[in-house]
Amino acid sequence: MSLPGEFEMIRRCFAPLAGPGSLSLMDDAAILQPRPGWSVVATVDTVISSVHFLPDDPPDLIARKALRVNLSDLAAMGAEPLGYLLVTAFPVDTDEDWVARFARGLAEDQAEFGIGLLGGDTSATPGPLSLTITALGQVENGRALLRSGASPGDRIYVSGTVGDGAFGLKLAKGAGTRLSPEARAFLLDRYRLPQPRLRLGRRLVGVATAALDVSDGLAADLGHICKTSKVGASVEAVRIPLSSAARAMIEAREASREEALTGGDDYELLFTAPAHAEPALAGIAAELDLPLTRLGEIRAEPGLAVIDESGQPLPIGSGGYRHF
Ligand SMILES: [Mg+2]
Repeated sequence: MSLPGEFEMIRRCFAPLAGPGSLSLMDDAAILQPRPGWSVVATVDTVISSVHFLPDDPPDLIARKALRVNLSDLAAMGAEPLGYLLVTAFPVDTDEDWVARFARGLAEDQAEFGIGLLGGDTSATPGPLSLTITALGQVENGRALLRSGASPGDRIYVSGTVGDGAFGLKLAKGAGTRLSPEARAFLLDRYRLPQPRLRLGRRLVGVATAALDVSDGLAADLGHICKTSKVGASVEAVRIPLSSAARAMIEAREASREEALTGGDDYELLFTAPAHAEPALAGIAAELDLPLTRLGEIRAEPGLAVIDESGQPLPIGSGGYRHF
């Protein structure tokens, strides 16, 4: 990307993404006005080429996934999105077509999730492409879904299916050649284009006692809830909800049920709720047409126990993706 065309290119590609509060990206900063009685929720994530995605991944998918993982964090807090800030460092040889496709991906998801770009910054870099998105949302004062609210006796639930993201990544790396084209496409899509569960997060406000989005793997993320809530958990492996594509991959012996438990990147919501919330949750699942599966129970004793069909504990190691 060469100066001086850079700023003109940025203007052409990103100015059309400006949302309410952005002052058309023409002022020094954006202005947000949460509803009276609501709090602002903020989250940020960076993705770097060759670390979080491959250099030849489609630019629109890189953009959309980066935005969606941030929206998923808002969903996990029970927040509704207000908008986002975008910081990009494009390699010096990035051409305008690439940036235009990248911006089109953002435009597509802005339309899907009803948000706009609030501001940002861009530069050229001699290093790899790096992309930082800060998402802002709002939630009623004191009602955000925290990780710290789980109590012994609460039930543990997860939305959708688990393991698809991790299995999709395996496919992207060359596994799964015996799967049907449909199963392959499903798993790759789940890996490349996660669904932030924003509507579910909103509906869980006042219902769930603790929540997070599954990004480190179900086992590790349940561990985060337990640690923050100072409780333990027991999960029945047979209850883990698997997609038919994930099941096909396990049957073809190209992946295991344990990998579904410990793989990251599903961006489903994992949450706890008291037993009396069961009918409310059944109503929410029907309303959103999204399965909410009960996995097990929060216990007072610390630690995570995963029990197999015969009641024996499964070894799951330390579980989950480690960032460092
Ligand atoms: Mg999260």
